[in-house]
Amino acid sequence: MIPIPSSDFPRVIIVGGGFAGVKLVKKLKNLPVQIVLFDRNNYHTFQPLLYQVATAGLEPDSIADPLRKQLEPVKNFFFRMAEVHTIDSENNKIFTEIGELDYDYLVIATGSRTNFFGNVSIMQHAFPLKQIPQALDLRSHILQNFEAATITEDLMEKKSRMNIVIVGGGPTGVEVAGALGELKKTILPKDYPELDFEKMSIILLEGSPRLLGGMSEVSSERAMKYLEKFHVQVYLNTLVEDYDGHGAKLSNGEEINTHTLIWAAGVKGNYPEGLSPSSLERDRILVDECNRVKGYDNIFAAGDIASMKSEEYQRGHPMLAPVAIQQGNHLAKNFKRLLKGEELKPFTYLDKGSMATVGRNKAVVDLPGNARLGGFMAWGIWMFVHLISIIGFRNKLVVFLNWVWNYFTYDKGTRLIIRKFVPKRLRMQQKELEVTK
Ligand SMILES: Cc1cc2nc3c(=O)[nH]c(=O)nc-3n(C[C@H](O)[C@H](O)[C@H](O)COP(=O)(O)OP(=O)(O)OC[C@H]3O[C@@H](n4cnc5c(N)ncnc54)[C@H](O)[C@@H]3O)c2cc1C
Repeated sequence: MIPIPSSDFPRVIIVGGGFAGVKLVKKLKNLPVQIVLFDRNNYHTFQPLLYQVATAGLEPDSIADPLRKQLEPVKNFFFRMAEVHTIDSENNKIFTEIGELDYDYLVIATGSRTNFFGNVSIMQHAFPLKQIPQALDLRSHILQNFEAATITEDLMEKKSRMNIVIVGGGPTGVEVAGALGELKKTILPKDYPELDFEKMSIILLEGSPRLLGGMSEVSSERAMKYLEKFHVQVYLNTLVEDYDGHGAKLSNGEEINTHTLIWAAGVKGNYPEGLSPSSLERDRILVDECNRVKGYDNIFAAGDIASMKSEEYQRGHPMLAPVAIQQGNHLAKNFKRLLKGEELKPFTYLDKGSMATVGRNKAVVDLPGNARLGGFMAWGIWMFVHLISIIGFRNKLVVFLNWVWNYFTYDKGTRLIIRKFVPKRLRMQQKELEVTK
C-alpha cells in the first residue's frame, strides 16, 4: 500500500497532472476530500509550445512546471510520482509502479499519446512530439544532422541529413513546419555557412485536401500561403506509407531522402488497464454528460481521454486544452454537488475559437461568429492567449522575454545538442510498441 495518511474525508484519486487534472485539483481545494494526484512526471507540460522547444526557440523548463510547487497550497493534497498501470474497480483500488492505493472516487485524466496507426516501421524511426524528452531528442537530432552534413562528401547523404519531412497538416504540423522554415531562412545559414540551404527541403504532408482541417477554409488557405513564404513545400492528399530512417515512401509514389521525419499525424487516448471494454471506444473512455465513466458510479474521466458524445460532438469533444480545462473545472463543481447529495449538472463546452501560428507575424485565428483573422493581428492574439495559458508566472515571463529577444534579434538561442541519445528514443518507442501489441 502506498503510504498516504488516513483521513475521515473520502479519497479522490486523480491520475494525470495535465490541463484537466491540475484544474480539478485546484478547484477541489476547499472541499472535504482527500486528494491524491498521480503523474509519471513531477511536472505539468504545456504541450502547445513543445514545437518551440524542438526548434530551439524555448528552453524546456519554460514550458514545464513542478506539480508539487503549483499545487502546494491545496489542503489535504498528496502527490505521488508514479505511473498508474491498472484499475481494480471491484475493489476500488489502483495499482502503480510504487504500490497500490484505495479510492472512494477515481478520476482518469491521462491525456493522449501518439497514434502511429499500427505502422511499426514509422513508429520506430519517426520523431513524435508529445513530451519534453521527445522535443529535446528532436532538437538534438536535427542539429546533429547539420553537423554531420558539414563533414560528408556524399551529396545525397548531405541533402538527406538536411531535409525534414513533417507528417500531419493540423496545428502541430503547421507550427513545426513554419518554425523550421524560419530556422532555415534566418538562422541555419549563419550557423552552417558551408552548407547550401537551397538544397534543403522542408516538406509538410497532409492526407486530406487541406491544411488545418478543424479550422475554416480561409485559415487553411492563409496558412498555406504563409508556409510558402518560408519555402515549406506542402503536399496535400498525400500520405507517408513507409519510413526506414533514411527514406520516406509517399502515397503518390515519390520517395524522399531524409534522416528526419516528424510525426504530427494523430493521437489516441492513453489510459490504465482494467476498465470494461464496453466503457471504451476508439481508444477513449466513454463518459456521460457529467464526465462519469460509462458503467461506473465512482469513476470519472476528463480531458483528451474522455469521449463525451452529444448531438454537436458526435465523436466526443476535440482533444484540446480548453476542453480539458473546462471539464476539470466543471467536474470539481459536480464533486461539490455529489458530496452534498445533489444532482450532477451536465457539462457544456464553451468554444472560444481555434488558432495556429506559422511564424513571425503570421498566424490564423477563427473566432466564434465566423470572424477569421490572419497576419500580425492573429499572431498577437496567438501569443497573448498562449502567454496567459502557460502555468506559472516565472514561465510566462521567461517565454515572453524569449519571444521578444527572438523577435528583435532574429535569433533562437537554444541551439544546443545536449542529449545524443537516439537509442533511448528507440527504446521509448519500443515500449509504446509493446503496449499497443
Ligand atoms: C504538440 C502538441 C501541440 C498542441 N497544441 C495545442 C494547441 O495549440 N491548443 C490546444 O488547445 N491544444 C493543443 N494540444 C492539445 C492539448 O495539449 C491537449 O488537449 C491537452 O494537453 C489535454 O489535457 P489533458 O489534461 O487531457 O492531458 P495532458 O495534458 O496530456 O496530461 C496528461 C497527464 O497524464 C500523465 N499520465 C498519462 N498516463 C499516466 C499514467 N498511466 N499514470 C500516471 N500519469 C499518467 C501525463 O504524464 C500527463 O502529465 C497540443 C498537443 C500537442 C501534443
